[in-house]
Amino acid sequence: MSAPAIGIDLGTTYSCVAVFQNERVEIIVNDVGEYTTPSYVAFNESERLIGEAAKNQAAMNPENTVYDSKRLIGRHFSDKEVQDDIKHYSFKVVADSDDKPMIQVNYKGETKRFSPEEISSMVLLKMKQCAQDFLGIEVKDAVITVPAYFTDAQRKATQNAGHICGLNVLRIINEPTAACIAYGFQTKMKQKEQNVMVFDFGGGTFDCSVLNMDKEVFEVRATAGNSHLGGEDIDSRLVTYFIAEFLKKHSKDISKNLRAVRRLRSQCERAKRSLSSSQTASIELESLFEGVDFYTSITRAKFEDLCLDLFKLTLEPVEKVLKDAKMSKSEVDEVVLVGGSTRIPRVQQLLKEYFNGKEPLKSLNPDEAVAYGAAVQAAVLSKHESQSQGTGNILLLDVCPLSLGIETGGNSMTVLIPRNTTIPANKKETFTTYADNQTQVTIRIFEGERPLTQDNNLLGNFDLSGIPPGPRGQPKIEVTYDISADGILTVTAKDLSGTGNTKTLQINQKSNRLSDGDIDRMVREAEQFKNEDGRIRDGQVARNDLEGLVFGTRAQLEGEKKLNIPDEDKKKITEIIEQVLAWMEQNKLASKQDYEAKKQEFEDVVQPLMQKIYGQGSSQENFTAPGREQTRAQPSANDLD
Ligand code: AMP
Repeated sequence: MSAPAIGIDLGTTYSCVAVFQNERVEIIVNDVGEYTTPSYVAFNESERLIGEAAKNQAAMNPENTVYDSKRLIGRHFSDKEVQDDIKHYSFKVVADSDDKPMIQVNYKGETKRFSPEEISSMVLLKMKQCAQDFLGIEVKDAVITVPAYFTDAQRKATQNAGHICGLNVLRIINEPTAACIAYGFQTKMKQKEQNVMVFDFGGGTFDCSVLNMDKEVFEVRATAGNSHLGGEDIDSRLVTYFIAEFLKKHSKDISKNLRAVRRLRSQCERAKRSLSSSQTASIELESLFEGVDFYTSITRAKFEDLCLDLFKLTLEPVEKVLKDAKMSKSEVDEVVLVGGSTRIPRVQQLLKEYFNGKEPLKSLNPDEAVAYGAAVQAAVLSKHESQSQGTGNILLLDVCPLSLGIETGGNSMTVLIPRNTTIPANKKETFTTYADNQTQVTIRIFEGERPLTQDNNLLGNFDLSGIPPGPRGQPKIEVTYDISADGILTVTAKDLSGTGNTKTLQINQKSNRLSDGDIDRMVREAEQFKNEDGRIRDGQVARNDLEGLVFGTRAQLEGEKKLNIPDEDKKKITEIIEQVLAWMEQNKLASKQDYEAKKQEFEDVVQPLMQKIYGQGSSQENFTAPGREQTRAQPSANDLD
């Protein structure tokens, strides 16, 4: 007999596993009776420890206790975020020959290196084993969650982590989506259509999403977040505060002693948790450093004073997400709290004030909601008999966080799939060549919000060759962007004019997808440069119009040999075509007005001649360029410029 599919919330600091069976969700306990398991792996002389056991010995074995693999997964060692993060780690991270971060530990007396995927796979293995112990049967199928802003590479690496521990990953879904499913699933009987904001403040990341729920359809309207804002940052504030206090009291600096800092950190986390329900919390550490004990306390007021700026940072993505979803505060029907850090009373209060006194919903368990939703999604996707009843027909729609486009003439970004489009999505457009007798085009794929590709992020490129030689503007190249439900992008280019040659690129693990922080930065910059970008974009639209007209005229001239156009007229038209094309070559970033003026100049020469050729009554249709769709985007192939 096969086992039901499970849902796993693979968290930065804690993970949680759940299963849907017999019409209800069960959150599964781990071997020490807890519903969440620390995402920790430790190595020592004789064994490997995962979860609670690993975290508990962290202070004694800091160099070989690994956490935060979720911050490293799918990234490059040289990424700024990775460099910033590893400064604070008690274990060693080195680069491999592909610039991939590798975690270096001492295991059974030998130096060993593990990739972040391998470490995450160990955490997943633990969650899988918990589920197997609970169900009494081997588990295979799982849905795993990731932050909404995870890039393609990070999603793929997470999927691989699942494969490494023997899981068949049915789907990777966004954490806020999963939380919303949990909310929707628990309330679906009572509610009609509503807008829900999921405010997910966890251990390592902050995610905010607006979803629309209509009966059993969940649609993510927009997502935003901060990948470096979570409970750990709050813990770090407390650690810094107490290190300074220790220095002041005892004139001793503990900051270089990994073990002492680790012990202090776990006391700080404990104190922080208790400050969510008490007004004061104490720290008691015997022989913390050089035999000196550390006994102290902190009030909730002092704690809030130390961390208020961090709490307030959560409101920026809240604002952004509403703007992106084109929704006012009052249109949000429910604010759902997810992640342990939402238990902090001041965080709840700030959010309530922001929503003009509206109470956020606290009925979902914030630590379990994501795994709960993942379990429901797993049941929907699974064919298992115990899961076929009770989920209804929940459909899930997600969005892509940045616009996806192609580079076209003048290094323009031509967007095929706009930011926040519901995924899975598929978009096709036809492009053409940039130079005469061009037999190859380079398809350059970008993500970002700016009108020029130089300001966006290159995801990959490939060449499509074998295009039959012909005048520029004539060949037709159909480009398809297909983004899967997991957020993985596949780009296909097909030569429609000749051989039917087709080439496909999947944006894979090594590809240069952006980090979460970069996505935030790019969206912010796009906001900042909006006016300037608007001018460039208008200019590029006018440029494409002009280009279409010129190519169209030339194609028409060449295709109408039988008309016996007088040589003199033909010469005049050819001259103005060449003149305008040369001018465009020199003026790649001219203003809309300049392109329109040039277009007028062109029409003043060509229109009377065309009318002479076709007769007075000829309509504008006789004088059209190939459709704008075709001419607007010449895969730009810098080599062919
Ligand atoms: P998550 O990743 O959602 O499991 O969130 C874990 C984070 O929530 C950790 O940083 C915890 O320290 C924090 N956390 C858990 N419970 C509380 C609490 N009662 N008050 C404040 N923070 C908490």
